[in-house]
Amino acid sequence: MEKTLSIVKPDGVKKNLIGEVIKRFEQQGLRIAALKMLKMSKDDAKGFYIIHKERPFYESLTGFMTEGPIVVMVVEGENAISKVRETMGATNPKDTAPGTIRADFASDIEHNIVHGSDSKESASYEIPYFFSSIEIH
Ligand code: UDP
Ligand code: MG
Repeated sequence: MEKTLSIVKPDGVKKNLIGEVIKRFEQQGLRIAALKMLKMSKDDAKGFYIIHKERPFYESLTGFMTEGPIVVMVVEGENAISKVRETMGATNPKDTAPGTIRADFASDIEHNIVHGSDSKESASYEIPYFFSSIEIH
């Protein structure tokens, strides 16, 4: 069993896609092990995306991620990391397969509805960023 961190980003919350994202994960046989809504500060977003701090999109991305509330969740299941990534689709909705969350709902490469940890290493940084052990079931 593997755990991964997923986020319905501010654009996904604004577009009323919280249920849609959760439904697609559950349809893959994945289980929601933790869930909450919160609004990140700029520092929260900068810390979460610290691996991207040298990238040209870091400022804009961390601004976008603080525009409104997000829904953070721990998703559990066999190969949860890759299953969530496949369900999300590629970063840029223009490059991604139809039927993925991003192909169906993302507006552009930045405003792409959903986040998912990209590796076990990322998941082990990202899950405790939002959840303590007593919040994960
Ligand atoms: N992003 C962006 N411009 C880019 C690449 C990424 O605005 O050229 C944003 C986008 O919201 C993306 C996030 O930064 O989801 C993190 O980028 P990453 O490469 O980790 O993509 P992901 O893992 O989310 O597919
Ligand atoms: Mg990533």
